[in-house]
Amino acid sequence: MNFAKLWQSVQQDRLPHALLFVGGVGSGRHVCAEQLVRSLLCAAPDALGKACEQCQGCLLLTAGTHPDFMKITPETPGSMIRVDAVRALAERVTQSPLLAPRRVVVIDPADAMNTASANALLKTLEEPPSATIFILVTDENMRLPATVKSRCQIVQFGQGERVADMTEQDAFLQAVHAMATGKMDPLMIAEKWSSKEYQAKVSLLTIVNWLQSWLREQVLTQGGAWLAAMEYVQKTRRWLALSPNLNRQLVLEDVLLHIRKI
Ligand SMILES: [Zn+2]
Repeated sequence: MNFAKLWQSVQQDRLPHALLFVGGVGSGRHVCAEQLVRSLLCAAPDALGKACEQCQGCLLLTAGTHPDFMKITPETPGSMIRVDAVRALAERVTQSPLLAPRRVVVIDPADAMNTASANALLKTLEEPPSATIFILVTDENMRLPATVKSRCQIVQFGQGERVADMTEQDAFLQAVHAMATGKMDPLMIAEKWSSKEYQAKVSLLTIVNWLQSWLREQVLTQGGAWLAAMEYVQKTRRWLALSPNLNRQLVLEDVLLHIRKI
């Protein structure tokens, strides 16, 4: 995906109210998000969407004081996006934009939203304020709840490693889903994903992270029955951080059997 295509949607008045920019490091997702923000808030962008850098909107944006631009990030790198921040945002987008024809909200990284934050955002995305464009940026598409993803148009950036990684992740989570509905044996999954081939492809910690995100999504969409399993996987993740040499197959069997019980 490149900026020109997005700009074409803007010109044709087809830009969705919520975009999810997905891509790995160096894929250009941040640069493109910034470019889109500048163009959307500029009073006189050129035909290719380049902001004029001279109008009031451009100057306020550069100064960091544009009243119609909001960016939500974790308070400290690596921490979660607080629900208060999302609630404040939800409150603000109910008001009309002050200067530009539309308000622009960037949430980056969107996967730093915890369940409460994602739920709060979901309410806003379900009843979108007419003059607001949301740009969610992530490099971990699968870590966002499906409910949030389904309300955004996904814009994929870059190719290569991350995309391959996503495919492994999809394959694993499909197997887990099949297991949860009684169509697959947890021991077989554990054996397959502990084979030499898969050990070379993906670490145990990564698999446990996938499981944790998947369970978070189950808790979010289906409620508390999944909570105990999620907490169990979180506990396992902490063990792994302390003792990375735990037997991979046994760990996988243990957590998968735990999930199957639900
Ligand atoms: Zn301008």
